[in-house]
Amino acid sequence: MTLLEFQEFVRNICAYYERRIPNDHTLDLWYDRVRNIPYESVEWIKGRIFEQDTFPKNYPVAIWQLYQAWLEAHPEKRAPDRTQYSCPDCESGWLVLEKQLPQYSIPISHSAPCARCKQVKAANYMSLDDAVRNGYRRKDLVSEHTVQRQPIRELIESIGRPVPDPAAM
Ligand SMILES: [Zn+2]
Repeated sequence: MTLLEFQEFVRNICAYYERRIPNDHTLDLWYDRVRNIPYESVEWIKGRIFEQDTFPKNYPVAIWQLYQAWLEAHPEKRAPDRTQYSCPDCESGWLVLEKQLPQYSIPISHSAPCARCKQVKAANYMSLDDAVRNGYRRKDLVSEHTVQRQPIRELIESIGRPVPDPAAM
């Protein structure tokens, strides 16, 4: 927030509690400690301060603590980390792909920065549509994980090789 926004903020709080407004030097010192707090959180912080019975003893510390509480209440504001952005095409910014090539029995894996959300920094991006046009398909991480938890008997049957049944021995 700017110094002017901060002064207005303090003036509001002081008026509410019928306190004398601190002198400019004190305000400057306080402002140094809270300048990095974004102005969009100020109304919320002010509301919490008004809920308290007394004027905060250590004003900058009180503001920082409330700002932390505001961040907890608004995790999406935790700038600049935006890797949690949920995109329907990718996993945290990466297209996770595979491609079946005739010479291999299992598909090759490939990944590329997602052009839809661009949440990872990269020189080149690939869209899921382009990937599909180039013969890739999106790797289904959820169902492939399920395959690993398949019952052992189904796995054996899927291999198609007879295995001695321990119960019949
Ligand atoms: Zn994406």
